[in-house]
Amino acid sequence: METSDIEGDLSSILYTEEQIHAKIAEVARLVERDYAGRDPLLVGVLKGAVMVMADFARELRIPATMDWMAVSSYGSGTKSSGVVRILKDLDSDLHGRDVIIVEDIIDSGLTLSWLLGNLRGRGAASVEIFALLRKPEAATVEVDVKYAGFEIPNEFVVGYGLDFDERYRNLRAIGILAPHVYS
Ligand code: 5GP
Ligand code: MG
Ligand code: MG
Repeated sequence: METSDIEGDLSSILYTEEQIHAKIAEVARLVERDYAGRDPLLVGVLKGAVMVMADFARELRIPATMDWMAVSSYGSGTKSSGVVRILKDLDSDLHGRDVIIVEDIIDSGLTLSWLLGNLRGRGAASVEIFALLRKPEAATVEVDVKYAGFEIPNEFVVGYGLDFDERYRNLRAIGILAPHVYS
């Protein structure tokens, strides 16, 4: 199966690869300006943020390091439970570091608000968030996202790292999954 074939499982494409890269470049320019002379630690949240991290880190023209966390926020079903478990923790000591959390999407906001509190409690000098996508209508808690990419409708999206049952992460575009796929 080629990735162009799995695009047939989308009812619509929200953002093409080109649009995603343009947005990431825009955010990288802001971060370069805000973090000039510092050495931010980019914290990617596995697995959804893998693509954003890879493109964002390479787009940045300032020194930066990368680390990864894996958390589980979903109970049963497709809604965040608010109960977050760390499946894989960071390797880095956060003391005095300027941390930028790199995330694929904010839905309810529960995962990120928990993560923000958790990382701030580890002695970081600062903790900010870059989320590529955000669903404003789905917010259960308000999260202060310094760098926000696209605001999207309250629909389940896949591609560019985002999965449905572990599939579609390798799509280059981001789109809305067609109902025939999950019904
Ligand atoms: P939140 O805690 O903000 O509700 O959601 C956290 C996680 O749920 C996201 O990091 C992402 O992994 C997953 N998620 C939320 N909305 C979507 C969506 O529309 N599509 C996919 N594939 N995952 C989502
Ligand atoms: Mg995520
Ligand atoms: Mg997922």
